[in-house]
Amino acid sequence: ESTINKIAAGEVIERPASIVKELAENAIDADASVITIEIRDGGIAMIRVTDNGSGIAADEVPTAFLRHATSKIRTAEDIYHVQSLGFRGEALASIAAVARIELITKRRDALTGVRYTAEGGQQTALEEIGAPAGTTVIARDLFFNTPVRRGFLKAAVTETAHVAALAEELALSHPEVSIRFLANGQSRFHTSGNREVKDIIYQLYGREIATKLLPVEREEKGLSVHGFIGRPEISRGSRALEHYCINGRYIKSPLLSKAIEDGYGDRMMQHNFPFAVLFLTTKPEVVDVNVHPTKREVRFSDGQALYLFLRAAVEEALQRAEL
Ligand code: ADP
Ligand code: MG
Repeated sequence: ESTINKIAAGEVIERPASIVKELAENAIDADASVITIEIRDGGIAMIRVTDNGSGIAADEVPTAFLRHATSKIRTAEDIYHVQSLGFRGEALASIAAVARIELITKRRDALTGVRYTAEGGQQTALEEIGAPAGTTVIARDLFFNTPVRRGFLKAAVTETAHVAALAEELALSHPEVSIRFLANGQSRFHTSGNREVKDIIYQLYGREIATKLLPVEREEKGLSVHGFIGRPEISRGSRALEHYCINGRYIKSPLLSKAIEDGYGDRMMQHNFPFAVLFLTTKPEVVDVNVHPTKREVRFSDGQALYLFLRAAVEEALQRAEL
């Protein structure tokens, strides 16, 4: 079992940022309104994700670390209507296979909390403990038991940058959650969780960008989009600041990036890319999220319609500003 976990873990856990993603998504699935993400040495030494969500019942804690243990899918049919971010039941098992794990959790209605520890997938402690409602997961010494994988990790600064990008994505895709991100004890950002996309953009990117935004708003045939794009002058040399979510899920999609960029057309200089934070909503069956284990890449049932819709929304926003 532990060997299988170790092998399969490679799929989900590439680097510290993958762990942060899984833990934070679990927190969001648990309806947390406040999440704190802390890392040390790029997350290689330590990752801690704390939430004020539902907590896990004491007797369900060891089960949660079993592969394919998920509380989020009960029937085969559910997979077509999945609303939660996680549903494979692999994350905790995979993380526990490659790091030293400590989990402290308490449900709101429970008298005490519980503390669980594991090393290399083997439970080392399970005890009652006083704790606030919610869950804290700490992963230490990433890949301590798989030196080859550890060797593939980049320097701490690079890993920190990956985690920071991921934390930004989480903050943008969950404006209803207050997210705090700290690296080596230093606060990097803190979003308010007030749902105001503009506030989050300000909290992440500062005044320079927040004062150069154009609102996007369009609805048509079961598709809708809202959010902001940047005026052409705040363009970048990479796609790093093209952010979009579909049905609440942060994704990367060459098709959607192209739609946004084509919406700018000649307004954008060659080799420049726009700033964008956009939220798309479709019927759930239009998007297949089950393509890749990291769940960032998706497939669309009618990509062409989505492309035309998004491009038109961007064009419209620029035209409204007479650009
Ligand atoms: P999945 O998210 O795909 O269900 P995970 O391995 O990420 O699988 O988590 C396993 C189970 O542990 C979840 O289904 C959930 O019941 C529980 N769990 C994990 N993290 C949390 C959390 N932060 N708060 C509440 N429950 C959690
Ligand atoms: Mg999960």
